[in-house]
Amino acid sequence: MAAPNIETVASLAKRRGFVFPSSEVYGGLGSAWDYGPLGVELSNNVKRAWWRWLVYERDDIEGLDSSIILNRLVWKYSGHEETFNDPLVDCRECKSRFRADKLAEEFGAQPTAEGFKTVKCPSCGKTDWTEPRPFNMMFQTRLGAVSEDDPNALAYLRPETAQGIFINFLNVQQSMRRKVPFGVAQVGKSFRNEVTPGNFILRTREFEQMEMEYFVRPDAEHSQLVDYWVEQYVGWYTSLGLSRDSLHLHEVPQNELAHYSRRTVDIMYRYFPERDEEARQWEELMGIAYRTDFDLKSHSKNPADAEGKRTNPDSTEDLSYFDEAAKERFYPHVIEPAAGVNRSVLAFLMDAYAEKTTEKGEKRVILRLHPELAPIKVFVAAIDARRLRRHGRHRQALRPAGRDRHSFLRHRRSPVARRRSRHRARPRHVGAGARESFRVERAFTVEAARAKSRPGVRLTLDIGH
Ligand SMILES: [Zn+2]
Repeated sequence: MAAPNIETVASLAKRRGFVFPSSEVYGGLGSAWDYGPLGVELSNNVKRAWWRWLVYERDDIEGLDSSIILNRLVWKYSGHEETFNDPLVDCRECKSRFRADKLAEEFGAQPTAEGFKTVKCPSCGKTDWTEPRPFNMMFQTRLGAVSEDDPNALAYLRPETAQGIFINFLNVQQSMRRKVPFGVAQVGKSFRNEVTPGNFILRTREFEQMEMEYFVRPDAEHSQLVDYWVEQYVGWYTSLGLSRDSLHLHEVPQNELAHYSRRTVDIMYRYFPERDEEARQWEELMGIAYRTDFDLKSHSKNPADAEGKRTNPDSTEDLSYFDEAAKERFYPHVIEPAAGVNRSVLAFLMDAYAEKTTEKGEKRVILRLHPELAPIKVFVAAIDARRLRRHGRHRQALRPAGRDRHSFLRHRRSPVARRRSRHRARPRHVGAGARESFRVERAFTVEAARAKSRPGVRLTLDIGH
């Protein structure tokens, strides 16, 4: 079973040290969350698993870490200054503010001044609206100690990591001597001033992305490549524990595509299983978009419009690529799988959620996280712990074992005998990767193995003499 709803996971996450509401001592801050000791491990494990899967295990993808604050012109030519907007309306009566498109949709109206004549304010019931107008979702900031209105100092916190990859396309391609097709992957924070954030860590103004731009020839089979990456990501998510039934593919209709995209498929997760209507249970986990050559062209100095005028007079570089084999120059096209770290963490937590009734009839909540994602890899259980402690070596012994597995290894001090049962239940509450059988086999060797239901890894720890 998965979690019954997001609220259940949110309160569990707080109790067990995964995610806390941010700034609580000052009454909190809407839609901001802090990752606790176990949450930061889980989220790092998700990012690490993704990086290993794409950058290390494949031969065609490089990594990158670009700046959060880029030259403002990046956002001018990416189209974000112009089009990265949400339409807003204000109620003149009670001053409430709403997303015009979402509200109009609820009332089956058009998101125009005319359409809003039939829409009643959800707060006060009046129909006295301002004109719907665009609201840019990029966070603004100012660079340096300059006056408030100096336009040259204006900068933005990036709303996506993708642009940092596009502007570095030639740097990566030339320094790593890459031939198209190849991809560039990046993990990092992005910021969007959402009008209506909410639903725990699903929609927040500050969030983390795992984006990859895959550069291909203009005559590649772009649509098939979108399908390929959809399949790859569905495989990745399910290999780490998400049930296939919790995922659903959504072909984004042409009229809803972002300004850069010619085709987008969203992988949806069942974040709202409590809703009766199945169509309303899904929300985007990630998207795979075909961005054409829009971005590389937009940031290049050479392209010209119909009258021969440069479309980007500010760029000093041309991001075109010369194909040695075909002896042609072109702007590579891009397939972009863009995933959210926080949304992925939420999906993994929801799918790992399980309830168990003990022999005494008590209900216990346990998390069945995939071992690769589990925040605690090994739990040293009670039975022979005193024997280990006597030698005072178990902590040192566990360290190299953790390194061997290329993963962070946490262990807890073993409980004393009379508190054994409670302590032994604890790791399952927080989704420990391995715990079920753990015993001292010989005097100085500890072996941990997963339960029979999950065979595979055996961990041998030599605790020395
Ligand atoms: Zn109102």
